[in-house]
Amino acid sequence: MKLNRSDLLQAGLSGWGIVPVENIPFSQEFLDICRSNSCGSYNTCWACPPAMGTLEECKARIGQYKVGLVFNHISPLEDSFDFEGMQDAAVKYRECVDALHELVKAEGDNISLLANGGCNRCKTCTWPDAPCRFPEKLFPAIEGSGVYVSRLAALAGLKYINGQNTVTYFGMLLCKEDIEIVGDEP
Ligand code: SF4
Repeated sequence: MKLNRSDLLQAGLSGWGIVPVENIPFSQEFLDICRSNSCGSYNTCWACPPAMGTLEECKARIGQYKVGLVFNHISPLEDSFDFEGMQDAAVKYRECVDALHELVKAEGDNISLLANGGCNRCKTCTWPDAPCRFPEKLFPAIEGSGVYVSRLAALAGLKYINGQNTVTYFGMLLCKEDIEIVGDEP
C-alpha cells in the first residue's frame, strides 16, 4: 500500500514509522491496567477490554497483518493544568484517526486501525448486548490490545513524550502488505 506523505500530514499525523508486526512488543501489564479502570472506559464499549479478549487473542488478531504504521499526534498545551487543551487534544486526535481511516478505508480487510482507546461515536454504546453499530469505524485500543506503546514508539523512531506542555497520542495502522510512504519531505 502506498501512502502519500502530504496526505498523512494533512490528516493530522505528527510523525510515523513502520514496524514489522513480528517486532511489536506486548505485555499483559496493559490489560491488567485496563482492568483497574482508572480511565473509566473498561467494560463500556467494543473498543476497550474486555471486548478484545485475552492477550493471546489480541496477539493473534494483530499477527494476521504484516506491518504496522505507528503514528502519533502531538498537541500543544498552555501548561500542565490545561484540562481544556487536553480535551481538545483528544478530540483532534480522534479527528486525525478518522481522517487516516478515510485515506485507507478502500483497502477493506487489508488494513485495521488501533487507536488510543475508548469510543464515543454513539451516545450509548451497544456493548455488550448487540454488535457495534459502526464496525468499520471501530478502532480498538492499542494499549488495551496489550501493545507496549512506549517501546513500540522507540522501534518506530518516535519519541513517546514530546516536551513540556504537549500531549502525544499514538495509534497504529496495520496492513497485510508492505506500506510505502511516497512524496517529498515538506
Ligand atoms: S461505534 Fe458506537 S456501538 Fe461501536 S463501540 Fe463505538 S460507541 Fe459502541
